[in-house]
Amino acid sequence: MNSYLIDPFGFCKNSESIGGHTPVSELERLASVCADRSGELIWKVSGSLDNHQRPCLLLNVAGSVNLVCQRCLDSLVYELDSTTTVMVAKTEEEADEIEESLEDEEAVEVIVSDGKVEVMDLVEDEALLALPLSARHGICPDSSMDGWKEKRESPFAALKELAKKVDGQKNE
Ligand SMILES: [Zn+2]
Repeated sequence: MNSYLIDPFGFCKNSESIGGHTPVSELERLASVCADRSGELIWKVSGSLDNHQRPCLLLNVAGSVNLVCQRCLDSLVYELDSTTTVMVAKTEEEADEIEESLEDEEAVEVIVSDGKVEVMDLVEDEALLALPLSARHGICPDSSMDGWKEKRESPFAALKELAKKVDGQKNE
């Protein structure tokens, strides 16, 4: 795995940003919960300071991974696209202070750093948090459901039918 070790405090102060593409196969913890090791994450981290001059990392992780459907146990492609703010504290006490100052609804994570953060750990954590607890197909491609599948129309086909009907009514 490529390492992206940053000093979060300098990184945020200087408004730096980095991004990259990382194959799922290089992220052991993520790969272990996926159906296979295919897929890739596209990620970006931007540093900034908030109103109180506290370091914030804006993290976006997107990409697709293969998960196991909990209904039919077949694999399914899951598209993830998750953004979160990670605030960086120097000590546990500072982290507690930040936690207390946050609104409950704010999607902010607080981490403690001694001056080094491995960006790939943040990316992998974010991807893991973004995965559904129980992945399921909308409609499973299971053989026992073949009858259903044939009858199933794409939403666009259904719309077309509807449009035709509306047109027909107009012509009457
Ligand atoms: Zn399924």
